[in-house]
Amino acid sequence: MDIYSSGLPKHGRILGKIIEEIINLPGLKAGFFKCFSNMLFDTHCHLNFRAFRDDYDAVIEKCLEKKIWIVNVGTKYETSKKAIEIADKYSEGVFAAIGLHPIHLDTGLVKMKIDQEEIEFKSREESFDYQKYKELAQSSNRVIAIGEIGLDYYWRPKTKKKKELFKEKQRSLFLEQLKLAKELKLPVILHCRMAHYDLIEILLENSDLLPQKAVAHSFVGTKEELKKYLEFGFYIGFNGIIFKDIPGINFKEVIDYVPLERILIETDAPYLTPPFLGNERNTPLNVIYVAKEISNIKKIPFDKFTELTTENARLFFGLA
Ligand SMILES: [Zn+2]
Repeated sequence: MDIYSSGLPKHGRILGKIIEEIINLPGLKAGFFKCFSNMLFDTHCHLNFRAFRDDYDAVIEKCLEKKIWIVNVGTKYETSKKAIEIADKYSEGVFAAIGLHPIHLDTGLVKMKIDQEEIEFKSREESFDYQKYKELAQSSNRVIAIGEIGLDYYWRPKTKKKKELFKEKQRSLFLEQLKLAKELKLPVILHCRMAHYDLIEILLENSDLLPQKAVAHSFVGTKEELKKYLEFGFYIGFNGIIFKDIPGINFKEVIDYVPLERILIETDAPYLTPPFLGNERNTPLNVIYVAKEISNIKKIPFDKFTELTTENARLFFGLA
């Protein structure tokens, strides 16, 4: 006997209608039935950036339809706030990470060309306001990580003295945010460009702040650097950059070496579009290409790979 054929047909119909409406609520639709097979988890994207200002909702709807969950990652206060604003609209499948990216710290020592896609208001922050970021992190239960934080030496001053000061400022910004992650018991999304040696050294020297859970996002490094991160117990994040030829980097060898249970997949959208898709804006929908490529390198069935990496992401972010 179902609710329609019970002795209360009218009430049954109303109840049925209510259930139907609840199931069809945006966001809930994608996460209502907790089945993690055939799911993908883009663990690092930026629908909170200007590139998606006009259509992030439509992009998210498409992702949820295709069972792709996402984490929008902040790079400064404004984009962190935006990531939360977006995540709060969905009951499942959309999350936020907050943090101050090293290139958004105004050291006053170097002129950086910052991507306009990221900027809505003012471009850089002079210092890290611990309390302000802490309150932001606590403002929503959709905040599941601190990031992206770390070191970036791509734009650096020329003189030795300035270079040292520049590195010191990034170092203390990084440590402050590791402290925040520790206090809030949140995993860390690490950004590291041309600075693996220093980042590893900072972590070794400050073992009290070594994150329990961290991911080396968009990993571009040697096998030796990779080994260090794995020794720390970190996860390794791969995106469309693996399709590029980068001198001195052998992605196949690196991917081969990372145990399956430590791999997270991501897109870093709107950036790092897989090259065969041309110059179009990257979106989390393209995480499938990253998954396909890595499952081929690892020689495991695609379905198995997506299931494993989704499970990895859920464990990493502490999602039940
Ligand atoms: Zn990013």
